[in-house]
Amino acid sequence: MQYSNLSEKIGLIKSGRISLIENVETFLQTIQSRKNLNAYNFVFEEEAIQRAKEIESKIKSGQSGKLAGAVVAIKDVLAYKDHPLTCSSKILSNFISIYSATSVQKIIDEDAIIIGKTNCDEFAMGSSNENSFFGNVLNPVDDSRVPGGSSGGSAVAVAANLCDVSLGTDTGGSIRQPAAFCGIFGLKPTYGRVSRYGLTAFASSFDTIGPFAKNVHDLALVLNVISGKDEKDSTSVNQNVPDLISVLNNQKKYKIGIPKEYFAEGLDVEIKNSILNIVEKLKAEGFQIEEVSLPMTEYTIATYYILITAEASSNLARYDGARYGYRSDNYSNLEEMYINSRTEGFGTEVKRRIMLGTYVLSSGYYDAYYRKAQKVRRLIKEDFDKVFQQVDLLITPTTPTTAFKIGEKSDNPLEMYLSDIYTTSANLAGIPGINIPIAKNSNGLPIGMQVLAKQFDEEKLISFASRFDKT
Ligand code: GLN
Repeated sequence: MQYSNLSEKIGLIKSGRISLIENVETFLQTIQSRKNLNAYNFVFEEEAIQRAKEIESKIKSGQSGKLAGAVVAIKDVLAYKDHPLTCSSKILSNFISIYSATSVQKIIDEDAIIIGKTNCDEFAMGSSNENSFFGNVLNPVDDSRVPGGSSGGSAVAVAANLCDVSLGTDTGGSIRQPAAFCGIFGLKPTYGRVSRYGLTAFASSFDTIGPFAKNVHDLALVLNVISGKDEKDSTSVNQNVPDLISVLNNQKKYKIGIPKEYFAEGLDVEIKNSILNIVEKLKAEGFQIEEVSLPMTEYTIATYYILITAEASSNLARYDGARYGYRSDNYSNLEEMYINSRTEGFGTEVKRRIMLGTYVLSSGYYDAYYRKAQKVRRLIKEDFDKVFQQVDLLITPTTPTTAFKIGEKSDNPLEMYLSDIYTTSANLAGIPGINIPIAKNSNGLPIGMQVLAKQFDEEKLISFASRFDKT
């Protein structure tokens, strides 16, 4: 049965032309046949079928929601009541959530089916999905390569047809970067647009939840459902949520800025050329395009890694073997219980960040690192405020390279951190960003283009990105 987006598919499900149960079964079969990709930590087979039956009867009685029958995968850092919540970490490997994240609940309330929880880097720390207690996730385009991270499983679940749409989280690029590596759309909303309630905190002032999809229509549909003020998250913002579906294909000719710092040394030439090619086409279509400057760009990675490690070291203090998850068998007093549980429960990258964060927050270094980085964060935000007075949108690459080989960067954390060079700035400034798959390189690997907008301008991102929808 032909359909070009999820709303059309849901329409066919509601009219009975697509069987809801068969749809779920097809996904379950594909998940089974692509098990080698390791995209899911958990698949809820029987439950998904049971839920499909319930939704089918809701449809019959004419009471079904906006996402009736849509099959959704969620990153395993999001709480889903009575289901495992591991953050792909040994320390939470036996943890079952007692409530659902607001974003997850909103999806359920619209009658979507949560098919499983996706693999990711441990506590969402990473750019390659190589830091998971459950093992690497493979890129479906080339399985010798990483899918990106940290939401690698959620990106792969969409790219390899293991669900209709998925949710990921983005603290420094973890939606946009894996979307770019896997050749799909991924959107990081404005900080505060989507409630973080039930998202396991990594760096609380950076964390956001957003969708992955094969087309912009589906992104808009899901983003509309999960957005909005939530009493349970005091950082969620009471801002009107526009009807994002209505702005699709509105053909508005936004004013576009090209930040020169994002096209400097270090950018893969095929990525650069593909984006400049698009820019030329836009010009020919009458878009007003100008070069702009974000002079603080060179400080983003350093600032990001000081601030997020500080926040992470504080957020991860709660995993002490007493209250949550894993406890070491090997201790003779309380102190040893804490130390051994954390030593055995956390992976290398998480420990590295706890150490770094504890260091930058320690009394002798607080002013030199943490406070300084806070000030630089403000300057980075001001850079964006300034350019968004001139232009509506910024076009940049999403990543400096296409998907790299498994193992290529895993021994070199600094090089790994540099793969976030174009994405972390949006989280420092709290602005929304999207990855648009625009081309393939000479090896057939996807190339992504990032578009950024000012806070709460998701509408412009969606409207502009829909020009690139193939469907
Ligand atoms: N790759 C970045 C990091 O390791 C971003 C992670 C994320 O967005 N969750 O911190």
